[in-house]
Amino acid sequence: MLAHKAEEDGVACVEFIAGLHGHVDYDKVPGVVYTHPEVASVGKTEEQVKEMGIPYRVGKFPMLGNSRAKTIDDAEGVVKIIAEKETDKILGVHIMCSNAGELIHEAALALTYGASSEDIARTCHAHPTLSEAVKEAAMATYDKAIHI
Ligand SMILES: Cc1cc2nc3c(=O)[nH]c(=O)nc-3n(C[C@H](O)[C@H](O)[C@H](O)COP(=O)(O)OP(=O)(O)OC[C@H]3O[C@@H](n4cnc5c(N)ncnc54)[C@H](O)[C@@H]3O)c2cc1C
Repeated sequence: MLAHKAEEDGVACVEFIAGLHGHVDYDKVPGVVYTHPEVASVGKTEEQVKEMGIPYRVGKFPMLGNSRAKTIDDAEGVVKIIAEKETDKILGVHIMCSNAGELIHEAALALTYGASSEDIARTCHAHPTLSEAVKEAAMATYDKAIHI
């Protein structure tokens, strides 16, 4: 029930018709609630990971610690990352903040390429941006955030 999922379905369908290998990974379709603040998520929820019995770690970073959010006086929200405990592979990312629907695509890319939380944390993020909160939550997943 998402326009962007339907778009991927359409591309895969035409690829199949053309004799190619169409593919849509339904586990990595981001969902966005266009409220204010926005709510966006991709991958598994903590409840799903628990049910699957996968040992995991959670990293959270509040937007109150993010410089850009504070300068625009819009610091409500949090970034939450769930990663497999043993491998640090990201399983799900959930963001609630202004522009969460934009920030979620870094997480979608990370999930698509099987990234770890450390992969995001070691990626240089421009300052001051809301995206730095994703980096900080990634740091908190395997170690600890800096600005908290
Ligand atoms: C008001 C509204 C707002 C939305 N807002 C968002 C949003 O903000 N973000 C988002 O991600 N998604 C949104 N959606 C959902 C999104 O539009 C749909 O999930 C998406 O369009 C589904 O695409 P689809 O190609 O699978 O189906 P559809 O777009 O429904 O296409 C199906 C097509 O098949 C045709 N058809 C049906 N039966 C037959 C038949 N027997 N023979 C031939 N043709 C047939 C129909 O006429 C239609 O053209 C919204 C939906 C609505 C209704």
